[in-house]
Amino acid sequence: MKTFQPLKPKVILGVAAHPDDLEFSIAGSIAKWTSQGAKAYYLILTDGSKGTEDRNADPKVMTKVRRQEQRDAGKIIGLSDVFFEDFEDGTLENSLEVKKAISRIIRMVKPDTVMCMDPTFIYSSERGMINHTDHRAGAMATMDAVYPLARDHLSFPELLADEHLEPHKVSTLLMTNFENHNYGEDITDYVEIKLKALAAHASQIPDIEQRSNMLRDWMSNIGSKYGVRYAEAFVRLDMSL
Ligand SMILES: [Zn+2]
Repeated sequence: MKTFQPLKPKVILGVAAHPDDLEFSIAGSIAKWTSQGAKAYYLILTDGSKGTEDRNADPKVMTKVRRQEQRDAGKIIGLSDVFFEDFEDGTLENSLEVKKAISRIIRMVKPDTVMCMDPTFIYSSERGMINHTDHRAGAMATMDAVYPLARDHLSFPELLADEHLEPHKVSTLLMTNFENHNYGEDITDYVEIKLKALAAHASQIPDIEQRSNMLRDWMSNIGSKYGVRYAEAFVRLDMSL
């Protein structure tokens, strides 16, 4: 396994399909880095209007509630801001429109580190699950935005011409993959903050106790692979080109 120096990001952008995705995957690392002075931002791509079993739920109300929950979670982990796009929950595609939206925010906040899901994680027979189509599409679009679209001035030239957004080169891409990873960020001192942020998503997570225990198990399994008590797992890509 490749050995890495510890990460000290200064500006971080986390990109995900839905409100709550990033609390499961990266909120411990974010809380740690913001407490060390980093600036961190989230970009949520969909309106979060579909993930419910309640047949009486109004999608518009759900979008509003979930965005507020995401802002509340962001306050707990020290986010500087949360950006929301309006792509429809459940139908996100790795389209030029989505890639442009992500490229815009990358050029605006100029992160050294971008975090998203690993787009190669499609399903897990071990855990008996399919990775949500929005997660896969959003992750692939994020990867494409990091390289080459946000970086090259001739990609989406209107971002520069009309919005004066200079191209930006991201140094590190951290992709969440709970099973195949090459980097664990020690979040031992930040697990409780992470779980508190997760609990802010009350409309999506009715049984927070059960979810918290599940997450503690995941984080502890990952931690044991990296010699710490709790860790979040990533495929880490430090880009030299
Ligand atoms: Zn999700």
